[in-house]
Amino acid sequence: MKDYQTTHPYVSSVYMGRENGAFVRSYPRLPTTYDPRERPWYILAKEHPSQVVVTDPYRAVTTPDINIGIEKALVNQNGTVYGVVGADITLVNLTSYISRFNVGRDAEMILVDDNGMIIATRNSSRLYSNISDILQDQTPTFLMTKEGVLVLNNSYLIYYTSPELGWKIGVFFPSSSIEQKINESIARILLFVLIALILLSVITILVLNQTVIRPLSNLTDVSKRIAETGDLDQKIETGGTGEIGILSRSFKAMVEKIRTEEAARKQALTELADHRDHLESIVADRTRELSDANERLKELDRLKSMFIASMSHELRTPLNSIIGFTGIMVKGMTGPINPEQKKQLGMVQDSARHLLALINDVIDISKIEAGKIEADVSTFDLADVIRDIQNTFAPQAAEQGLALNIQIPESIAVTSDDRRIKQIIMNLVSNAIKFTDTGRAGLIVHRQGSMVTVSVSDTGIGINGEDLQKIFRPFERIAVPGRLTEGTGLGLYLSQKLARFLGGDITAESEIHKGSVFTFSFPITYVKQEDT
Ligand code: ADP
Repeated sequence: MKDYQTTHPYVSSVYMGRENGAFVRSYPRLPTTYDPRERPWYILAKEHPSQVVVTDPYRAVTTPDINIGIEKALVNQNGTVYGVVGADITLVNLTSYISRFNVGRDAEMILVDDNGMIIATRNSSRLYSNISDILQDQTPTFLMTKEGVLVLNNSYLIYYTSPELGWKIGVFFPSSSIEQKINESIARILLFVLIALILLSVITILVLNQTVIRPLSNLTDVSKRIAETGDLDQKIETGGTGEIGILSRSFKAMVEKIRTEEAARKQALTELADHRDHLESIVADRTRELSDANERLKELDRLKSMFIASMSHELRTPLNSIIGFTGIMVKGMTGPINPEQKKQLGMVQDSARHLLALINDVIDISKIEAGKIEADVSTFDLADVIRDIQNTFAPQAAEQGLALNIQIPESIAVTSDDRRIKQIIMNLVSNAIKFTDTGRAGLIVHRQGSMVTVSVSDTGIGINGEDLQKIFRPFERIAVPGRLTEGTGLGLYLSQKLARFLGGDITAESEIHKGSVFTFSFPITYVKQEDT
């Protein structure tokens, strides 16, 4: 017994009682009156002879300790109890025993028997008190369940029930320490999350930098350089994948297109500049050529004038001789001629007259066109001029069987070039007779304020509207089938030029096959014209 006590330090005593009242134990005791058979441990063991029983905690008789006895009845072969052997465990020892378990600095381990008495704890104030003082209304839960966790005011109680004894071992953890643990874990998790986030950000930035930021900033740099320098020869990286890659490639394609177009534009500009320079030289060349040509034309004009001036004299003198001498011969003044000779000489005279008229017209026209014509102004009576004309054309009209209705006006004093006015009117009357086969030719003079109009009308072949536009042009003659009329085609052209030179004009109205009216108007007093 002594050995057992020594080798099991939490065992305070090992003992045995006998049915005869004897009692022995592992260490000496003062000789006092002590009947083991009356002790609760003996009675309990004797009641359950086949079992090991555990007593309720009880106060020792000889020491101030609270003990628990572990008892077993001693039974002989006949099944008769002859004693009880037991060992006491002092709860103080139990307390120090369970204190050895490391459950944390602030935690408190308790041992509770099946009645709820705290039989071991470091906290001496709680020792031997009932757990219901702490758990209050949670006590039944604690006692009835095998294991669990109870949430108390300031602590958590975690407990477990021993299947052998029905005792419960529990640990109080202060809420603060649990919360601290939780906080620590949360802090650890937060730290972890933070590190993860930082790592993620760094990786994201690295990846973004590689795939988005660097290509984009490259593009930005390139476009900036292009904007600043205008130089499209930039290296553009297009290696990226995804949308940035597409963007870079599109940008590169765009820059290349701009570059080609820019090159084309520059070439076009250079060509344009070449053309412009060239154009200037072309214009200069053409201007030079034109002024040369102009000079040559002026020279030609001068030569033409000289030619006309000399030729007019050279041609007119012999023509006048021809006309004069044939006239003398026709009149028989150079001796008798037969009718055939007379006829032939007459034809010579007509041809010479025609040629003279043509030469005169050409000379007049060239004078007008050269601006060299001068008006030979005098004051005369228009009536005299008209009368002369009537006398001139009366025989011809009579010969053609035409009535010549020329109204001689009251005397009208005109201050102008009488020879030119007469020339114009004669031309109109001559045409009227020439282009009329039957009926009459007429002339009438009107005075309207400062203007005089001479209308020459006929009942002749007339002119259609289209041809009426042409008759004032040089050498323009209207061909009439089956009709051959003498003429040069210069008469009306010259007459209108002369009329305008005198400050007047000639207009024509006509109806084909009915007749024509030519109206010559001119100022009663000649005023020199700026431009004829
Ligand atoms: P020419 O009489 O020498 O042919 P003109 O210049 O005097 O030249 O006339 C031009 C043309 O105008 C004539 O050839 C003729 O066809 C037409 N013409 C002129 N006067 C008349 C007229 N009174 N009636 C019809 N046709 C006319």
